[in-house]
Amino acid sequence: MKAHDGMYIDGAWRPAHGPDTIDVVNPADEQVIGRVPAGSALDVDAAVRAARAALPGWAATPPAERAARLGALRDVLVARKDEIAGTVTAELGSPLKFSQAVHAAVPIAVAGSYAELAATHAFEEKVGTSVVHHEPVGVVGAITPWNYPLHQIVAKVAPALAAGCTIVLKPAEDTPLTAQLFAEAVHEAGVPAGVFNLVTGLGPVAGQALAEHPGVDMVSFTGSTAVGRRIGAAAGAAVKRVALELGGKSANVILPSADLAKAVNVGVANVMSNSGQTCSAWTRMLVHRDQYDEAVSLAAEAAAKYGDRIGPVVNAKQRDRVRGYIDKGVAEGARLVAGGPEAPREQGYFVSPTVFADVTEEMTIAQEEIFGPVLSVLRYEDEEDALRIANGTVYGLAGAVWAGDEAEAVAFARRMDTGQVDVNGGRFNPLAPFGGYKQSGVGRELGTHGLAEYLQTKSLQF
Ligand code: NAD
Repeated sequence: MKAHDGMYIDGAWRPAHGPDTIDVVNPADEQVIGRVPAGSALDVDAAVRAARAALPGWAATPPAERAARLGALRDVLVARKDEIAGTVTAELGSPLKFSQAVHAAVPIAVAGSYAELAATHAFEEKVGTSVVHHEPVGVVGAITPWNYPLHQIVAKVAPALAAGCTIVLKPAEDTPLTAQLFAEAVHEAGVPAGVFNLVTGLGPVAGQALAEHPGVDMVSFTGSTAVGRRIGAAAGAAVKRVALELGGKSANVILPSADLAKAVNVGVANVMSNSGQTCSAWTRMLVHRDQYDEAVSLAAEAAAKYGDRIGPVVNAKQRDRVRGYIDKGVAEGARLVAGGPEAPREQGYFVSPTVFADVTEEMTIAQEEIFGPVLSVLRYEDEEDALRIANGTVYGLAGAVWAGDEAEAVAFARRMDTGQVDVNGGRFNPLAPFGGYKQSGVGRELGTHGLAEYLQTKSLQF
């Protein structure tokens, strides 16, 4: 795998200040496939300075020209989509087909949507006797996780660029090669020097230095709730804008009138895709007591089919963490109906697609985010009970409702405390806002709502 041994700062690859490096490991075979520099506070400082220096020019660039650069970026991502998919597969471990269909394709759609939005958004509006200008927030510090490595970068960088902000990105340490490829794409797209900068490095070192840097006006973070809480606290102390996309424990509610087999099969596929490493995954399946046994056997059957198709989880720590949750589920009295804690292969960080039945709402596996291919099936008595269980976690990122009648599903969805609900399967919409209620986060990504995160208003009074 191609790896740069520098940081992309001010339009060029520059040597890091320190000698430390991070090994990039292929989770499917545990081989080191590349090495990138582990940035320090000095590298972050150089990147923030470059972003600050570039801010006045980029903020004053007409939206049509910003749109043209985003369009060019989209085109480069299209031209390099096979390389992107191959790189994501190598460092994240997801099967190549999934990398092509999701990890490479979704960022292309999102970059394209912001090329269009930058050109059409009303950055100026008349409100009574005032004229309100929507201006860029300033320098953005973007910190991203590894589970959708390119999507999460593009979901921050594209709206920030469209808004007229400049950026310093600190990607996850497990997937820096995808981030380096993205930096090359930004360069090829003709985005001016300093507008986008990349610093690879460890979270508590480079990530923290970026979040706390006084030259950063806004921090946009996607990752765990634990780290998000700290970043939010630091941003609060500095009175900085912050956007947090955090964890989830979403419910898949199957109402008695639904097509049970379809709802269960789509639900299992949702949890197993990307090896369960999806923050919005519907990891709690809620089934009416009269249909419970049937749903459990359907889910076990569906999960067994994923046995050889599923990729590994990202690293050994994550594998051990997921297996620890499976052990805990067994210890707390849940019934394993598929998979289990044993390693399914000798090499690679694989976890068996796992389904638990007889899960009750207070169990750890029903409350905490596992971030692996593990589904819990819970029983409910009636609709009120289903709603209480669905809303009964600290999270509120996503969810699903299935019913024979769409209006019935919509009525239930409206009562869920969560930011996004798929009705009878739903479809991915890159323009719809994505983000959490409760401890799943603050702010929204994608579409105009995602653009608004990077804008601040100035009212001119007449
Ligand atoms: P993580 O919080 O450990 O890391 C995320 C990013 O934060 C990485 O780039 C990491 O280097 C950095 N980081 C770590 N410590 C830091 C610190 N002290 N200061 C600044 N930055 C720091 O999370 P992870 O393990 O990489 O990702 C998995 C988690 O992310 C899951 O909980 C998942 O639900 C969540 N997630 C949420 C969304 C969403 O959109 N809501 C999307 C993807 C992942």
